[in-house]
Amino acid sequence: PYTLGPKISNWDQQRVIWNNLNPGKNKTRNGKPKILLVSGSQPGPCANPMGDFYHLKFVKNRLDYARLHGLEFFYNMATFSKEMTSFWAKLPLLRKLMVSHPEVEWIWWMDSDAIFTDMAFEMPMEKYEGKNLVVHGFHNLLFEQHRWIGLNTGIFLIRNCQWSLDLLDAWAPFGPEGETRVNAGKMLTAKLVERPTFEADDQSALVYLMLFDDPKWKLKTHIEWEFYLHGYWKYLVYRYEELMAKSHPGFGDERWPFVTHFVGCKPCQLSVTPEVDECFLQMERAFNFADNQVLEKYGYAHRALASFKTQRIRKDTADPLGLLEERKPKPEDATAS
Ligand code: UDP
Ligand code: MN
Repeated sequence: PYTLGPKISNWDQQRVIWNNLNPGKNKTRNGKPKILLVSGSQPGPCANPMGDFYHLKFVKNRLDYARLHGLEFFYNMATFSKEMTSFWAKLPLLRKLMVSHPEVEWIWWMDSDAIFTDMAFEMPMEKYEGKNLVVHGFHNLLFEQHRWIGLNTGIFLIRNCQWSLDLLDAWAPFGPEGETRVNAGKMLTAKLVERPTFEADDQSALVYLMLFDDPKWKLKTHIEWEFYLHGYWKYLVYRYEELMAKSHPGFGDERWPFVTHFVGCKPCQLSVTPEVDECFLQMERAFNFADNQVLEKYGYAHRALASFKTQRIRKDTADPLGLLEERKPKPEDATAS
């Protein structure tokens, strides 16, 4: 049967030993546990060149977010296992990153079709102490209704630990391309509610493990619903102007969504359909909505959310840091004179 690699059973001890031998490597500049943001896309060009244009923009968006929040960032375009194609490519990659980066505490996977739309929001990591997986979902849809969309595996954080290696080992056998994936797909469609007929996907397989496999998976997973770690694009993109008029970044929830995920858009496909056109238009708007939050510091903004053109929003000044500007008298000035 398919495995991701040689069985490792004492990874937690190995990490402790390594981190003791390499002191200080496992903390950020601010003394926090390291988080590695990871994304990736297929090794070859998109059939539709516009797809690669948006891949580039979405990579820039991740670079900006990671820079602003002190995350490390890795973008993968290599195939780590020829059986684990498409949405399954993340599994061998995550295992490889875990065992190659013992200094990293959390690995944060983000699909290529998702974009940060709240550049100020930060993950409330203190909430996840004692948990090893953080994934967006809804308790009732998942645990009561057994729906295949009860959680979303487009964006999740997984702790670098033995539990996670075990989860990847339990998760991977659904994925090998061909007969295995097709048969696993039939089983998942039979077991999960409203799942269409198609080969096994990583999301359904994780839902299955949560519901029907070892209870330890559910026990150590935090199902996040208080903010949009994953936000379905069709519910969000048409509200951006309203949010800009009424709200400000930093909430991550319906007041200003953290992540907009273009589920169901296939921008690499060559076919030009009204659906794909709408995907491209809304990706442009989502990118510019986020990019405005980055450009603000430099005094620029997009002319409109649908426009890649920018305009100046402030006059340049000879006093960019506000140090020379006439200061209002302060109490200490009075005592000094
Ligand atoms: N992916 C990857 N390498 C590949 C193919 C896919 O890293 O060769 C990643 C990519 O980030 C993509 C994710 O896997 O967003 C999910 O795959 P897919 O695009 O097939 O599913 P979707 O995002 O449309 O649900
Ligand atoms: Mn996706």
